Amino acid sequence: MNIELQCCGLFVIFTITVMFLREKKLDLMNRKLFFRAICACFACLIFDILSIILINRSVYNGFSPLITEIVCKIYIMLLVLQGYFGYVYASTSLLPRDKKWAKAVRIISHIFFATGEILMLVLPIGYEAHGRMVYSYGPSTSVAYLLSAVFILSTIITTLAFRKEMPGRRFVAMLLWQGIWLLAAAIQFALPELLLVGFASAFGMVILYIQLENPSEYIDGSTGLFTTNALSAYVHDKYRFGKSFSMFTAKIHFLTTYVDYGMEQDAVMRTARALVALGPEPAFRIDDDTFCVLYDDTERMFERAAYIKMRKDNVTDLPAKGTYLLIPDSLIMSGPDEFFRFLHTYLECEEEIVTANEELVRKLRHQTHIKELIDEALAADRVEVFYQPFYNVMESRFNSAEALVRIRKADGELVPPGEFIPVAEENGQIIPLGISIFEKVCRFLSEGEAQKYGLDQIEVNVSAAQFDYENPAGFVFNHMEKYNVDPSWINLEITETAAAKNNDIMVRNMNRLIEKGITFSLDDFGTGRSNLDYILHMPIKIIKFDHTFTQSFFGNERTKHMLTGMVGILHKMGIKIVAEGIETEEQINVMRDLGVEYIQGYYFSKPIPEKEFLNFLAERNGHA
Ligand code: C2E
Ligand code: CA
Ligand code: CA
Repeated sequence: MNIELQCCGLFVIFTITVMFLREKKLDLMNRKLFFRAICACFACLIFDILSIILINRSVYNGFSPLITEIVCKIYIMLLVLQGYFGYVYASTSLLPRDKKWAKAVRIISHIFFATGEILMLVLPIGYEAHGRMVYSYGPSTSVAYLLSAVFILSTIITTLAFRKEMPGRRFVAMLLWQGIWLLAAAIQFALPELLLVGFASAFGMVILYIQLENPSEYIDGSTGLFTTNALSAYVHDKYRFGKSFSMFTAKIHFLTTYVDYGMEQDAVMRTARALVALGPEPAFRIDDDTFCVLYDDTERMFERAAYIKMRKDNVTDLPAKGTYLLIPDSLIMSGPDEFFRFLHTYLECEEEIVTANEELVRKLRHQTHIKELIDEALAADRVEVFYQPFYNVMESRFNSAEALVRIRKADGELVPPGEFIPVAEENGQIIPLGISIFEKVCRFLSEGEAQKYGLDQIEVNVSAAQFDYENPAGFVFNHMEKYNVDPSWINLEITETAAAKNNDIMVRNMNRLIEKGITFSLDDFGTGRSNLDYILHMPIKIIKFDHTFTQSFFGNERTKHMLTGMVGILHKMGIKIVAEGIETEEQINVMRDLGVEYIQGYYFSKPIPEKEFLNFLAERNGHA
């Protein structure tokens, strides 16, 4: 009997089914649909074989034609079901969920399928056998061929239409799968004795299994937990179907700098075991040292998280601690992109436990918005440097200025640094931004215009993050060389937080710059950021009294004494003083009487663009 190929197909599909069922399962829509397709293929093959046997029996041995007809009908109905499931598997993750047209496409395909099945059921069917040629015919069979062709073509068209939205591998696998079916059908049509279609559909499933539903990509080799790829698929799936989930994330931090491979593996394996022991919910290893478990229920997530934290604290023989990120409701994030951005941002947070809430999401959105703003400004050269003149009390002229950055939006609006510098400091954009600012200042100085009107120096602000790595002085030298800028024209302003963060590297870099002739001021003195220790130990020539400090001089007796005393001490140490934020004539007179060397403030000028600044110097200092 002509059933050898179908039996081979059955064997193949049986093997995949066993492998698929034995795998660790993640509740993904695609996997469900894939499993449905396997089942349909399985059932189809069985009825294919059964129908061939019964047709032979009926034709040669007079077996009940009614039963044979029923089995033949079931077979062709399953054949169409298989084509339909294949199409649904291919299209579900591709068709947008919120578009009307996609909804219409879905409804039409359901109707097509249902009508086809009813027609196959009611229309007459015939069958025939000549030797190895066994087939059914009649209107019912014709409907089956027609519908199968429709679903195969729809799958191919959908795949082609969305090829840009899927990985190349998926595209190739889909086309191969459908191509093999079509080829088999064509061969079977030309050589009716070669019953290839059943085997080809099983073979197509193998391609899908290996290429798309391959478990190895989803399982971490060393821990057996799910991988980041699995998490990504899972999260996309949940958002796609609008389902909320809760997440508990733990990151291992070693408390020693020396961590060998064995210790690391030990911590990883222990954590993995502890997470698996938490319950049936899927646990993931999403980075070498980061793990998470997903829950459908918020309460349960909190309860399990509290349990693991307690348990972890009891494990004291490893020099490690955990930091935890809890996401009670995934739907406070707008989608997978925001979800992963949130995860990456807050996993790096220094707090021990972070619980996601709307405010953190808003903050993240703001940061993302600012990050884009900075990127765009850097790319389109819309970073602008404004200059605010300093009045030199002794020489009664403006011989210095502070460079203050602004971003010009595409619509011309200016964004003040307070809005983007803190974000840039946090995400590292301060490095390219700082370089761009420094380059602009060097270019300005290299033109020599300002010097003609008596400018001696420009103060450039530098943030801690700009000194966070070994050779930050490099960019300073490179640009000074490129623009032929004399080091004595540059003074760098640092804050104590900057200095405190990485004292060693900072001092080393400062000394390298000082050797070349660059000077430093300490910014924001008199705010919470100041500490006298730094004045003693940092190579600082100038101290800037923060405007809050200078302003409170006029309202607060204690500040008055403190400030007066500080001026005396600093002068004895050979340090010069800049008073910031001076807005009235009275304030100037007081500062002058105190002996402050430089005055900066709105009284003289706000920070102004380059051209205006040159006009200001020309007007106030005159030609040199
Ligand atoms: P800062 O270094 O303390 O700069 C002085 C700030 O005080 C400037 O604000 C300036 O416009 C403002 N100011 C000047 N005179 C007066 C006054 O009389 N009254 C008042 N109320 N304010 C006055 P701005 O330009 O908004 O800069 C804010 C901060 O952004 C700066 O504070 C600095 O920390 C940071 N920043 C500005 N430019 C840069 C830069 O190029 N690099 C880095 N890393 N940070 C920068
Ligand atoms: Ca400053
Ligand atoms: Ca300041």
